[in-house]
Amino acid sequence: MTTIKRLGVLTSGGDAPGMNAAIRAVTRTAVNNNMEVLGIIGGYQGLIDDNIIPLDSYSVRGIIQRGGTMLLSARCAIFKTEEGLAKAMQTIRKRQMDALVVIGGDGTFRGANDLIQHYHFPVIGIPGTIDNDIYGTEYTIGYDTCLNTVVDAVDKIRDTGSSHNRIFFVEVMGHESGFVAMNSGMACGAEIIMVPEQKNQMEKVRSFLAERARLNKSSMIMVAEGVEGGAMAIAEKVKQEFPQFDIRVSVLGYIQRGGSPSSKDRIAASELGVAAVNALIEGKYGMMVGYERNCIHLEPLEKAVKMHKHINADIIKVAESIGTFTPLD
Ligand code: ATP
Repeated sequence: MTTIKRLGVLTSGGDAPGMNAAIRAVTRTAVNNNMEVLGIIGGYQGLIDDNIIPLDSYSVRGIIQRGGTMLLSARCAIFKTEEGLAKAMQTIRKRQMDALVVIGGDGTFRGANDLIQHYHFPVIGIPGTIDNDIYGTEYTIGYDTCLNTVVDAVDKIRDTGSSHNRIFFVEVMGHESGFVAMNSGMACGAEIIMVPEQKNQMEKVRSFLAERARLNKSSMIMVAEGVEGGAMAIAEKVKQEFPQFDIRVSVLGYIQRGGSPSSKDRIAASELGVAAVNALIEGKYGMMVGYERNCIHLEPLEKAVKMHKHINADIIKVAESIGTFTPLD
């Protein structure tokens, strides 16, 4: 058991629906264990600037249903330097923090790992990113809400696509990982799903489209933004080769980050927030709290940032079995 008197909490990187629910769970669990809680405003930049507010059970009321993050988030380049890290540590010492909870994606965890490696400061991570791309956890806060937003938008696009017999390319988030494209594509009944994990997929997509052209059928093609320059670039190539198609593109963009968190995200954020504080009390840090086989699981942060999470082969098989073409090897 470790005595933590004062706990810091921050959200960093891209915001994700459910981050507020995680802040609430961390704060209330910490307060119930006689800790003071400091909310750091604007991620690591707030640590560097000493931009901090006290949090208590009352100050986190009424936020569980809100998207975004009440503590604000930021991308803070200076934190990656030794100077930035030292400034952040100065604030931690000045404020007499005993431990820190960081909520964010793999970049956020790299920063947390630096604090641990350079200063042996106790940090624990909660995975909060709409991408669900963090190794060592089956789930990251915000993913379910993001999928629901995409499904809702694509259902509407499909109505017009099939009425006009069009080929629709829908671009979703995912520079390097295709989790959003794969799962939302499957949920929307997309004809093709293109993910960035697969290189040189155009050849396979072309032959699939040639068959669609022969049948004169409309199609929904889900494209992760990191594929072949994105949906616009792919649509341009296809237009030249298949002039008979009426091709449209819809880039969903930032709507995928916003909105009220789904019940799944609120519950996951609450479970992970409680687990993070309990782990710190038990003296466990340098860890990310996540899920393995649907149960809370601790993964070393160092491993979570070094290893790559792959799309589950079973989900690809399911997609293919129900007629979705995934040009994967
Ligand atoms: P998302 O997956 O939603 O983009 P993220 O946490 O990966 O979230 P990043 O912008 O990559 O978002 O990282 C958030 C912050 O973490 C950065 O602004 C920076 O302050 C810190 N960070 C990122 N990478 C590193 C690194 N290699 N070393 C130290 N700090 C880092």
